[in-house]
Amino acid sequence: MKLTEENYYSTESDAAYMSYSQLKAFLTCEAAAMYADREPPTTAMLVGSYVDAWFEGTLDKFQAENPQIFKKDGSLKADYQTAEKIIQRVQEDEMFMRYMSGEKQVIMTGEIAGAPYKIKMDSYHAGKAIVDLKCMRDMNYRWSDYTACKVPFVEAFGYDMQAAIYREIVRQNTGDTLPYFLAVATKEDPPDIALAGIPAEVLDEKLRFVEEITPHIQAVWAGQIPPHRCGVCAYCRRTKKITEILDYRELGRYNQ
Ligand SMILES: [Zn+2]
Repeated sequence: MKLTEENYYSTESDAAYMSYSQLKAFLTCEAAAMYADREPPTTAMLVGSYVDAWFEGTLDKFQAENPQIFKKDGSLKADYQTAEKIIQRVQEDEMFMRYMSGEKQVIMTGEIAGAPYKIKMDSYHAGKAIVDLKCMRDMNYRWSDYTACKVPFVEAFGYDMQAAIYREIVRQNTGDTLPYFLAVATKEDPPDIALAGIPAEVLDEKLRFVEEITPHIQAVWAGQIPPHRCGVCAYCRRTKKITEILDYRELGRYNQ
């Protein structure tokens, strides 16, 4: 299947290729990733897409396709006014704009641990660097599901894993192992901005992790292994059936 801007996020494309977002969904809850209806994009995701669309030069199209971002009087809802503030702020920064000046929304495909993967890069500087734009609430450390302590938001959201996948797929397509940068803007008022690199050794380690977990996820996806239920997500709560009495100390999560 040939991927294009139009079909990249389609059900067919998701069935044909693994992606960072699918991998993240499976790591969060295999059962929900398999069976839950696809949620419509959250406001937080749409704010990011709004800024992406501006960088790509397709904001008019984005606004036309997403009428829910406007109030009845035709003005932008508060969340998208925040997106406008981010756009104004980043334009004032020469270095931020230079890193975001690569080719936009570049799609590539490749293979990791025998599984087909797809990627879509926000700003691709061929032969030089991969840059991904992130619009965050703030840049603070976050609680992680895997460690009982706060970690950098890049790790908490798995952006290091996304970076490892992108760098590897670009390497397979071009032979270049490129440095990877995050162009970060926050939804604070006024917005904060930063450029951050992810060191090569972190990307090496994360790629090994992706290579390790991909065969299991493929097997679950193919129906060879029953999906694990996380027990706490919306899908698991909705479909829960009580079969045993728990010790009270098993209730809840420590790190929330
Ligand atoms: Zn779950």
